[in-house]
Parts: sequence; C-alpha cells; structure tokens
Amino acid sequence: MRLNLPVLLVLTAACAALSPVARAEGYQDTPMLPDGKWHVHDGTRPQPVVVAPGTFSTPEKPGAPPSDAVVLFDGTDLSKWKSGKGGGPAAWKVQDGYMEVTAKTGDILTKDEFGDCQLHAEFCEPNPPSGNGQGRGNSGIFFFGMYEIQVLDCYNNPSYAGCVYGQYPPLVNACRKPGEWQVYDVVWTAPRFKDGKLESPAYVTILLNGVVVQNHAQLLGPSGHKSRPPYTAHGPKGPIKLQDHGNPVRYRNIWVRPLKGYDEK
Ligand code: MG
Repeated sequence: MRLNLPVLLVLTAACAALSPVARAEGYQDTPMLPDGKWHVHDGTRPQPVVVAPGTFSTPEKPGAPPSDAVVLFDGTDLSKWKSGKGGGPAAWKVQDGYMEVTAKTGDILTKDEFGDCQLHAEFCEPNPPSGNGQGRGNSGIFFFGMYEIQVLDCYNNPSYAGCVYGQYPPLVNACRKPGEWQVYDVVWTAPRFKDGKLESPAYVTILLNGVVVQNHAQLLGPSGHKSRPPYTAHGPKGPIKLQDHGNPVRYRNIWVRPLKGYDEK
C-alpha cells in the first residue's frame, strides 16, 4: 500500500500518542509537593534533559565523558588551564595521554569558572613511592581555588587521601597502589553568600575509586595549613585548581558537569 503525506502524518501522530515515552503519565489529583508547583506523580512536570552517559575507564584507557560534560583535560593539551603563577600558560608536562605535576612550576587553574558541579578526575601516584605521610604523592584538587580535596598516596602510608584538607579525614582508605590509575568522582555544592555574609556553606560528596569517602560533608571554610580560616564572601563561580606540591603526580580524563536544580534546562 502506498501512503500519501497526510496519511503518514496522521499515523505518525497516532504512534506518538501511543508511545509510552511521548505520553505524559501521571496525576493531577494527588497531594502537592512542598514546592507548591507539582503534584505527587505529576504528569505535566517537564521531562529531564537527556544525557548520554560516558564509558568507564580501564587501567589502559580513560573512558569517555558524558555528553554534556565540559572536558578540562582529554590527554592532549593544557589549553583549558593557566598557571597559578601570573596566569600564563600552564607549564606541567603532557605526554602519553596524561599531565604530570612539574615541580616548582606552580599550581594550575581552569580558565573557566564553575559553581555547583560534578567533577571527574583520574590520578596516578608516583611509582616507586617516595617520601612519607603528606610528603608522598601530594597534590590536590581545589574548588574555587581554595577548598582542597586532598590527592595523596595513602597506600601503606598512614595519611588522608580523600580528606577535605584540615577538616575531615576520609571515611575509609580506598587508595590503590602507586602507579595505578585512581578515580575521583566529586559532587560539589558551592557556598552561598548574601550581603557579604555566609548564607549556606559548601558541601561535598566524594567517591574515591567508587567508594564513598565523604558523604555530604559540610565545609567549615577554605582550606588552611595548621589553621581554620573562616569563609570569606565570593561569587557563585570560581576556578578549579590542581596543586603543585612538588611531587610528580599524574592526571588524566578530567571533566566537569555544572549542576542545575530540578526542572532547570
Ligand atoms: Mg595537597
């Protein structure tokens, strides 16, 4: 049977109406949720944005990021980064798909700024290991350039990889051996300020190698060495910083997803 265009359009519309994904299922006669906008099981609530998930990394090969990720380092160059010393080009070594801290060149910061976000970063500690305690494979990931998630080699080394520096130790030690690629997945909620005062603190949830090491930890303020600095008001976004602590820690496959609220496109 040959179908002309009007018949095709009618059939297409009929199929769409019958499709379980196209039809909004739900109720309007159920209790309201506390937001005052949506009913329980509300069928008119907007569908979430579709994101194609990425792929998992293997020891040999980094995975692919989700489709909406902002890629900060894909193994080829440091074009998304700048030096913490004067803002010029980031000077860390890049080779074989990773970047490596080059001692005394300084921290590096993202050129772009981020607020609430999901961060994925993979790192590899120097092998053979060198030093002890905080001196073994030390680097760090700083949100807003000031709130540090510790990067450290704590395999058979009593210290605090996965800590919020100076504030919270990790819930468990989930480190892999030096020389093996490790994975941080972090959910970061930025602090809010109003009229120069803290309105709500920062929160962080961290998985190290798939293991929860921080569970919605409430930050006390910026990171400080032997100190507890108070919050100081800043804007809603800031750079992500990687620390040069003098140890040749390697990074690969770094991406970030800015996070929005429910129903926000
Ligand atoms: Mg550090």
